[in-house]
Formats: sequence, structure tokens, C-alpha cells
Amino acid sequence: MQTARSCFINGQWVVPDKPTSFMVTNSATGAPWLEVPLAGVAEAEIACKAARTAFAGWSTLDPSVRAGYLGRIADELEARQAEIAAAVSREVGMPLKLSERIQVAAPILAWRRLAKTSADYQWTETIGNSLVERVAAGVAICITPWNYPLHQITGKVAPALLAGCTVVLKPSEVAPSAAILLAEAIEAAQLPAGVFNMVIGAGADVGAALVASPEADVISFTGSTAVGRQIGAQALSAVKRVTLELGGKSASVLLPGADVAVAVKSTVGSCFLNSGQTCSALTRFIVPAAQQEEVLTLISEAVQRITVGDPLDPNSRMGPLVSDDQRERVRRYIRKGIESGARLVCGGAEPVGNAAGYFVAPTVFADVDPASDIAQEEIFGPVLCVIPYRDIDEAVTIANGTPFGLAGAVWGLDDASSLSVARRIRAGQVDINGGPFNLDAPFGGFGMSGVGRENGRFGLDDFLEYRSLQQPQRKG
Ligand code: NAD
Repeated sequence: MQTARSCFINGQWVVPDKPTSFMVTNSATGAPWLEVPLAGVAEAEIACKAARTAFAGWSTLDPSVRAGYLGRIADELEARQAEIAAAVSREVGMPLKLSERIQVAAPILAWRRLAKTSADYQWTETIGNSLVERVAAGVAICITPWNYPLHQITGKVAPALLAGCTVVLKPSEVAPSAAILLAEAIEAAQLPAGVFNMVIGAGADVGAALVASPEADVISFTGSTAVGRQIGAQALSAVKRVTLELGGKSASVLLPGADVAVAVKSTVGSCFLNSGQTCSALTRFIVPAAQQEEVLTLISEAVQRITVGDPLDPNSRMGPLVSDDQRERVRRYIRKGIESGARLVCGGAEPVGNAAGYFVAPTVFADVDPASDIAQEEIFGPVLCVIPYRDIDEAVTIANGTPFGLAGAVWGLDDASSLSVARRIRAGQVDINGGPFNLDAPFGGFGMSGVGRENGRFGLDDFLEYRSLQQPQRKG
């Protein structure tokens, strides 16, 4: 078992002064595999000061120079691609082949695309006698969860750096390897000292200390709605800019006349991807009541093809959950679903696979009451709720009937009629007839799913202020 390096501050790896030991386990076996000496409030404060000191130099570089660093970081990440993918699979539970593509290659591409964005980005604009500039907002605190660690870190750190902010990253201690390897990549890319800092610590002390730091200008948080509300209130009371990327309970709406087989394949794939540990997972399948049985037959066939096993085994199609706590939480929801009267079609709360690992069987409920807890709350595990509807208005009402609004999908006879239903869905991104994920399009949520947007040029907004310079109007 290895011991991790947990703090990268002012260009140096630092050993925490009074570390608390945290054990990261292999999610497939429950065995300890990485010991993390967690940082404390002292390291958080030093990191914020380092970021403040580095700000003046970094924020005044030409954006093209900063973009050059982003490209070099992408190169260094690429050199560590295999190591990151294996570590994320082991920690989070995603099968390795998927992890290579989704957890690693996609974020590396995002670093590269953002670097290119810089050339076309309108950093200044003239409006009447004003020169309107977009300038770095200051020291950015980036707090991220464990489920797509490199992806979520990239969605914050890459635009923050390009905007000219300096950064303190607090990744999740639950799956820290991707962040540690990113810090190594940044060190190898020779970013100036203090521009990027990382402290791995517990949320309640280190995370909270970073949000409260007088050096922190921008708070960018991805995680649960409960913690996001707390951070949002704390940040706004100190008048800090805040972005929140929170939970979801996204709907896949099947319209009459749609290709049912394609809709089922895609919805099942989305719901069970990463063992259901995906904020934008399509976890509610809203189907015409008359077609529910046809849909369930196809879902059962699709679920039978999902081999649950060790994410490092090439035959596994779905791995375990991230931790014992997460597995127990998901099992509690499954029991609750059964108690609520929903029909259990497949899966269940019983142990599956290696009992020491954190496995839960892909689970499907039918005839789910849209007001029940399993249809309203984010479970963050492999649980699909099939909800029947009678007419399109009811389908839209059900789709919009949770506090969340992160994502969605619509399947219809043709793209035009599907688009008109998609426009009635109150969510940040809605896929029409299988439209693929777009790294350049804004990503974020309505309602309790958050505040602000990430990805592409939209992700820069959170890290930039406007400055209007009014110039005298000279005659002639
Ligand atoms: P979490 O809210 O428990 O933790 C997220 C991060 O916040 C971690 O780094 C944690 O240490 C830190 N934290 C916890 N308490 C804190 C506090 N009081 N002050 C400051 N920081 C604190 O979430 P999680 O369990 O790591 O991740 C799962 C959640 O993240 C799910 O709800 C999921 O929907 C959400 N998520 C949202 C998106 C999105 O883009 N909308 C993406 C991925 C995950």
C-alpha cells in the first residue's frame, strides 16, 4: 500500500503539519490501497496566501501565454493517462475501458479545447466610449466530488487558469488519485509557483476554511445539494462569487412513436454508467402507460447483458460503488422503493459479486409513483425508476416535478416534435433522440441542480469580472 502526497503548495509538495490519516480502499475488494495524510486548516491558509501572491503575475500575462500552459498540462496528463484511468477505476468503480475514455481522455480533450478557445475569446470589447474588459476574478477555490474526479476538476481549474485566476483545489479525499496526478502534471508543465495549489483534506474543516478565507474571491463547487446550499450561503454572506454544480434526478421521456429499443438502450446505459454515480444520469424513465410492459421487457434484456464485476476485469460492464457508505445508502433506497409499493423488476438490495467490494445489482422499479422518495431524491447508485404517463402534458409535468433540473432526454417520432417537448423541460441540458454530449456546450442546472455553467467558453464566465473603462469623448 502506498502513502499519497496530499498538498501541493507554492510549487512544492508539502507534508501536512498535523495530518489525519485517511484510507482509500479498492472499491472492488474493500482492501486498503492508498493512505492519504489529510491536510488541515493551516495548509488551507498557506495555500490561499500562495495563490494570492501569485495572482498579480499570472493575471497580467497575455491569455495566449496562459493558454500555452493549458496545452502543456494536457501533454503531461496524456503521459499519465493509463495511471489515472486505473486509479479512478479502482477508487470509483468504473470499468477500465470506459474510464480510459470518459474519465481521462475526455477531460484531457477539454484542456486542449479550452486552450484553443482563448484565441477566439472576446477578452475586450468597445461599447460607445467604454472599453469593456474581461479580467480575472481573483483567487479561485475549486471544491470537487469523487465520481468523475478529473473531469470535475478540469471543469473548474482549466477555465480558472485561462481566465487568469490562481487556484486552490480541494478534491474529494474519497478518490484523490486523479487530483494528485494532475498536480504532478502541473508541476511538470512548470506553471509558475503558487498559480495552482492543492490541499486534500476533509470538507468540514479544510473545505470550509477555504470558502471562509479572506483571500478567496471565487468559490466553484461541485457536489451534493446539501453541501452546496451551505457553501453558497457562506460565500454570499461574504459577497464572494459562487458557482454550484449540484445533484440531479434527470428524466428520459419516451414519446409515442419513438424507437423504443434505441431509447431503452441509451437510458439504461446512462442510468447504470459508473454504477449510477453520475450527476446527470437518466434515472427516471417516463413512458406511455400503454407501452410500459414492452419497455420493461427490453430493459430486463438490457440489464441481463450487464456483467457486474471488478472494474479492472475486461469482461465487467458495471463495477462497484465508491464506498461501503454509498452502497448502504443505495440499498436503503432500494428497500424504501419496495416499501413504497413500486414493482421491483430486477436487481434488489441483496449482496452481489465479491461481498467485500461495494457492489449493488442494477435495479429497476416499475409503476413508480412520481411523488415517492425513489422518484424524487438523488440515489447516486444503479437504480432506474420507470414511471408511466397518460398524455404528453402529464409526461412534462412529471419530468419537471422534482426540485432538480440538471439534464434530460426526449425520444420521439422525429426531431422536430421531440425538440418541442425538450423545450418544455426545465433542465440545463436535454438530449434529443440520442444527441451526444458536447464538451463545448454549457453544462449546469436549473433549480436545486445549481447556479452557473461549466464547459467551453461558458465555463470562463465564473472566473471573470467585467471592467468598463470609460474614455473621454474627444470632439473631431
Ligand atoms: P459532497 O457534497 O459530499 O462533497 C463534495 C466536495 O465538497 C468534497 O470535496 C467534500 O470534501 C467537500 N465538502 C464537504 N463538506 C464541505 C463543507 N462544509 N465545506 C466545504 N467543502 C465541503 O459530494 P460527493 O459525495 O463528493 O459527490 C456526490 C454529489 O456530487 C452528488 O450529489 C452529485 O450529484 C454531485 N455532483 C454534481 C455534479 C454536477 O455537475 N452537477 C457533478 C458530479 C457530482
